[in-house]
Amino acid sequence: MISLHGLTKVFPGGVRALDAIDLTVADGEFFALLGPSGCGKTTLLRTIAGLEIPTSGNIRINEADVTRLPPGRRDVAMVFQDYAIFPHMDVTDNIAYPLRIRKVPRAERVRKAAEVARRLSLADLLHRRPAQLSGGQQQRVALARAIACHPAAFLFDEPLSNLDARLRLEARTFLKRLQRELAVTTVFVTHDQAEALALADRIAVMSAGRMVQIGTPAEIFQRPSTTFVASFIGSTPMNLLPGTSTRGALHVAGAVRAAPAGLGEGDEIVYGVRPEYMGLSETERQDGIPGTVAVLENLGTGVLVTLESGDHLVQAVVPEGSEPALGVRRWAVPARSLVYRDGALLA
Ligand code: ADP
Ligand code: MG
Repeated sequence: MISLHGLTKVFPGGVRALDAIDLTVADGEFFALLGPSGCGKTTLLRTIAGLEIPTSGNIRINEADVTRLPPGRRDVAMVFQDYAIFPHMDVTDNIAYPLRIRKVPRAERVRKAAEVARRLSLADLLHRRPAQLSGGQQQRVALARAIACHPAAFLFDEPLSNLDARLRLEARTFLKRLQRELAVTTVFVTHDQAEALALADRIAVMSAGRMVQIGTPAEIFQRPSTTFVASFIGSTPMNLLPGTSTRGALHVAGAVRAAPAGLGEGDEIVYGVRPEYMGLSETERQDGIPGTVAVLENLGTGVLVTLESGDHLVQAVVPEGSEPALGVRRWAVPARSLVYRDGALLA
């Protein structure tokens, strides 16, 4: 288990990379840290690993306060984006490196490296150097090295981002299976929302050094707590349309919808609808957003239809073959919607 209390990191020069972070990652959990570039993901991971000293706050790993311990005494293994394996060592020595640091005898190191290599399908490559390996194999060597010393936790900093698209999907499935088998607490950093949704038991969405939302992939996908999270999650971005409430109704881009409780007269809101939950009506409806079909994109799993509605673009995903023709008029009718006020989820 990893728990962070009030963790803050201010770099010299004043950048507040971490701002009073409270977080508990459960024993054996696969936890993803998701957020845009520069939001503090790497700093958070490096602080847990002991490579950065926090300005304030503390870090516990399995109940022990490790805030003041050097990296080597924290019992965590970190895998970096660029793998950071040694070019002059063969696969065996790379995997066994952390065991050498711990003064494990050579015969035992070689045996252990071979065992871990088998598990990661590297058994035939033990005598190769990194330059003789593919990107995917190098990445598995980095993983093998992390596993070799049985750490209490894995810390992964975008470990798949240097792989091409197909390898990346393979590595993702592989990593998930491995983490399940080993049941080691894992913090996985990514800026890729699809990766976080696919891998994690829970996700924390970060922005500017803070946790904006923590929840299961389903919770974060279905009910993003802010418009920032809503715009960040989903393979097609959520429709976020400005609207106003008057006399119990919401007025959104030419449509009139029922207003949720708690809205006052004249409140400005943002109306959120996932393109997957947006239907298209051929006939005029008062609760539909009128628009003209401007773009059609085949996603493979359906067609993304973009309507132009005044100053706004409204998107819907429909099954292939049922998409309207370019230029025709349609009314976008949400099947499920969320209402945000001042950027925060209201209903
Ligand atoms: P991420 O991994 O989410 O892209 P980082 O943790 O690398 O973000 O960076 C968070 C913020 O801290 C950024 O504004 C970055 O410029 C700043 N930062 C990171 N490392 C340092 C450093 N060593 N010195 C000064 N500022 C830093
Ligand atoms: Mg980073």
